[in-house]
Amino acid sequence: MAAKVNMTPNKTPMPTQEPALRARNFEEVAQGYTQEMALGEAARCLNCKAMPCVSGCPVNVHIPAFIARLREGDFEGAYQVIQQSSTLPAVCGRVCPQETQCEARCVRGKNGQPVGIGRLERFVADWHNAHAQLPCEKPVPNGHKVAVVGSGPSGLTCAGDLAKKGYAVTVFEALHTAGGVLVYGIPEFRLPKFIVQKEVDNLKALGVELRTNMVIGKTLTVDELLAQGYEAVFIGSGAGLPNFMNIPGEGLKGVYSANEFLTRSNLMKAYQEDPATPISKGGCVAVVGGGNVAMDAARTALRLGARKVYIVYRRSMEELPARQEEVEHAREEGIEFRLLTNPTEILGYFNPDDRRDERNGCVMGLKCQKMELGEPDERGRRRPVAIQGSDFILDVNTVIMAIGTSPNPLIKSTTQGLEVNRHGGIVVCEETGETSRKGVYAGGDAVTGAATVISAMGAGKLAAKSIDEALSR
Ligand code: FAD
Ligand code: SF4
Ligand code: SF4
Repeated sequence: MAAKVNMTPNKTPMPTQEPALRARNFEEVAQGYTQEMALGEAARCLNCKAMPCVSGCPVNVHIPAFIARLREGDFEGAYQVIQQSSTLPAVCGRVCPQETQCEARCVRGKNGQPVGIGRLERFVADWHNAHAQLPCEKPVPNGHKVAVVGSGPSGLTCAGDLAKKGYAVTVFEALHTAGGVLVYGIPEFRLPKFIVQKEVDNLKALGVELRTNMVIGKTLTVDELLAQGYEAVFIGSGAGLPNFMNIPGEGLKGVYSANEFLTRSNLMKAYQEDPATPISKGGCVAVVGGGNVAMDAARTALRLGARKVYIVYRRSMEELPARQEEVEHAREEGIEFRLLTNPTEILGYFNPDDRRDERNGCVMGLKCQKMELGEPDERGRRRPVAIQGSDFILDVNTVIMAIGTSPNPLIKSTTQGLEVNRHGGIVVCEETGETSRKGVYAGGDAVTGAATVISAMGAGKLAAKSIDEALSR
């Protein structure tokens, strides 16, 4: 007999740390479903034949099938279903923008909230991680050798898929730790580092060799890797080059790119009492931008002791690109959103004692203009237009620029015959992920510019399949 469907219109709430408490610690905000909650939420799924949710997922996770297993209490079976399409479910269950992907298409969303697909995926993956052993048998070697550049989600996925087929895979990573944005960008309170470490340990157990502190394009080039006998190279080097506004004052001390600020905090543990790397702590902080990166930087600044944090964004709440949940969490934690506001200059108060009371101890002024929304641009988003005479100054101690990133030109400039587009993204064949250079594949943010974890993972998977097809011919 079919189990009873739970017709509650709303998702089972996610237990979270209280806003006042979590705003001052780095522990995970969302604490995950209990087994009872997961079973209750799984019972909201109608197991639709047409599976609209699946087409909303960039890698087509078989959502009704994994939820059906979960409902039966077969958690490992549910994990195995997800694994057929996604190798990082503990990560994706936490950070995918589900509201614009799988959950956006869920039929339960028509008369209430969609099924909490991401929350269920996280439950299943966490259950697996708590119970599963590392693989103890290495796959039988097939005699082929592949190099992967970068250890973000695209590189990890490509390396894992190839290693499982017996390829000897070496991952070359520029930083001292593997994981890419998952470790240096996304903070611990959204994605605990041990989850990414578990994925890296799995790869090592499969026989993947990880070489850190290896900047491809400097320490070795892609051409040299090919000359050393690697039969294929996958480039998953991300888009880590920060964009700036090019306004006066951006070179002042106390102005950071979000990447630098987050890397110092996440990877170099600048939040500790006596850190090896300095970072601005306390005071008033303005974060310019409205994406996930801006939310992460703002919430990190708060946890580092800022007394006031502003998000400065030039459009309105409707256009804000960050995940809804992150925006809600940021607001609950007390971050102030200055919308329809655009910075035009950063002023240094070279004598901070001057008018100190009025400035609340602040050493910089972020000069801004108020904006209104005009006609839609080429992407259909209404264009912000400055309101004349609306200038004002926000007094701050730190400014963090989170207005996007681009692929670093280093690999392009040191690899012969590698074609890139006008945004610096490596050009690849959509069907195979192969670049203009034979035997060299690419995927993730290095191709698309800053995008999502799941799309990077999908690109790593596609390239692994194409490399396997090419080398096993
Ligand atoms: P990356 O994760 O950037 O990894 C690239 C790796 O390559 C890095 O480790 C880098 O050090 C290394 N590398 C670079 N150049 C070289 C070189 N020359 N030699 C060797 N190694 C090199 N996406 C979501 O889906 N949800 C979110 O909530 C979300 N939040 C985000 C928050 C922040 C702060 C940031 C920065 C991004 C966020 N994203 C989010 C985007 C997502 O993390 C990226 O789209 C994804 O990580 C891209 O994966 P990748 O493998 O292409 O590259
Ligand atoms: Fe949804 Fe992401 Fe899971 Fe796909 S991988 S089903 S988009 S949470
Ligand atoms: Fe379940 Fe929603 Fe997918 Fe239907 S659309 S199968 S209710 S998750």
